[in-house]
Amino acid sequence: MRKFEVIAPCHFGLEAVLKREIDKLGYDITEVADGRVTFSGDEDALCRANLFLRTAERILIKIGSFHAETFEELFQGTKALPWEDYIPKDGKFWVAKAASIKSKLFSPSDIQSIMKKAMVERLKGVYHVNWFSEEGQIFPVRVFLMKDQVTVGLDTSGDSLHKRGYRRLVAQAPIAENLAAALIMLTPWNRERILVDPFCGSGTFPIEAAMMAAHMAPGMKRSFTAESWEHVAGKKLWQDAREEARELVDMSVKPDIQGYDIDDKMVNISRENARMAGVDRMIHFQRRELARLSHPKKYGFLITNPPYGERLHDREEMPALYREIGERFRNLDSWSMYLISAYENAEQYIGRKADKNRKIYNGMMKAYFYQYMGPRPPRLERFRDNGQESGKFQESAV
Ligand code: SAH
Repeated sequence: MRKFEVIAPCHFGLEAVLKREIDKLGYDITEVADGRVTFSGDEDALCRANLFLRTAERILIKIGSFHAETFEELFQGTKALPWEDYIPKDGKFWVAKAASIKSKLFSPSDIQSIMKKAMVERLKGVYHVNWFSEEGQIFPVRVFLMKDQVTVGLDTSGDSLHKRGYRRLVAQAPIAENLAAALIMLTPWNRERILVDPFCGSGTFPIEAAMMAAHMAPGMKRSFTAESWEHVAGKKLWQDAREEARELVDMSVKPDIQGYDIDDKMVNISRENARMAGVDRMIHFQRRELARLSHPKKYGFLITNPPYGERLHDREEMPALYREIGERFRNLDSWSMYLISAYENAEQYIGRKADKNRKIYNGMMKAYFYQYMGPRPPRLERFRDNGQESGKFQESAV
C-alpha cells in the first residue's frame, strides 16, 4: 500500500478536536499547526478521512513542502515535486487556493499562476508534450505559505466537508456543520443526555448531534473529487469505506434532542434538513420563543448559537435577549449551557461568568464558546441512562 501524508485543515482553535477524531480513526498524527492537522495513512485513509471526519474542512494529499522567498524559488520548488504521480496526461490542474502568512510571497494570484506554470513545465518534461488538453479528471491544488515555508496539497474533497449534503436551506447566519460538530464534541454531551438548541435556525446543532447519536458518518450522502482518481485510490476502497459507514449506522437510538426557534419558517427548514440527513425521527423541532423555554427533566444541555447583534438583530435587543438566556438557564434544574457568540457582552447580560470559554474563529469572525457546566447526573441516573440505551428501561431519568 502506498503511504501518504494527509493534511486536514480545520477551524482555527479546533485542532485538538480534529486530532482526537483522527486518532480514533486510527492514523498517526505527524504535525499540528494553526488550522490544520497532518497525519499519515495509506490509500484508504483518503476515503475514510473524507467520509468519517466531522470537524475537518477538507482532506489534502501533501505533495511536498519547501522554502521559498522569491518567485524563482517558488517555481523551482513546485517544479521539483512529483506531480506525475497524481496528475495524468489529460488531467485538469490548477491552484485553487493560496494562503500566505508572515511570508515574503503573499499575492495569491501570482503564487497561483507561477505554480501552475511550474507544474506545466514539470509535466511537459514527463509526458513529452507541449500542450495539455486538460479534459480529464480534476486536480485542484491548495498551497499554504507560513514564514516562507511552502506546503503544497492536492484536494481530494472538492466541496468543503462542512457540506454534508443535507442542508439545502439555511438560516440567515447558519453555523458551519463541521464547527457545530466540533463544538458539540467539546462538551460532555453524549447520546444518553438531553440536548436542546433554543435558537435552532436551520437545525445544524440538533442534526449534527443526531448524526453522532446514530453513528452516521458525515460524508455518507455526498461525493468527493478523489472518487474518480482510480490510480490514487481505486473504486473498491471507496466502496469499502462506504460499506463501513453503512454498517456503523444505528437507527434504533432514541436520543432526546430538541430544536426550537421563534420563526415558523426556520422550524420548517430544520425539519426538512433533518429529513434530508435521515435523522428526522430523532429530533423534535417546534416553534417556541426563548421566553417559553423550560424543561421538566434534569441534567440536559443547551448547545446553541444565539443571535449576536450584527447580521440578524439590532444591537439594542441584545442585552434583553442575553438576560433572558441567563434567566431561562437558571430555571433549568442542573443543566449545562454551551453557547457560541460573537456578542462581546454575552456573559455580562447572562449574569454569570462562564466556567470556561474558548476563542473560536467562525470564518473571519472572532467568537467565544462560553461553557457553563452543570453537575453530572448521580450514579443511579447514569445507570438508568445506560440501561435505556440497551433498551432495558423505557422510562428516562427525571
Ligand atoms: N445555528 C443556526 C443559526 C441560528 S441564527 C443554524 O445553523 O442555522 C439564530 C436564530 O435564532 C434565528 O433562526 C432566529 O429566528 C432565532 N431567534 C431569534 N430570537 C429568538 C427568540 N427570542 N426565541 C427563539 N428563537 C429566536
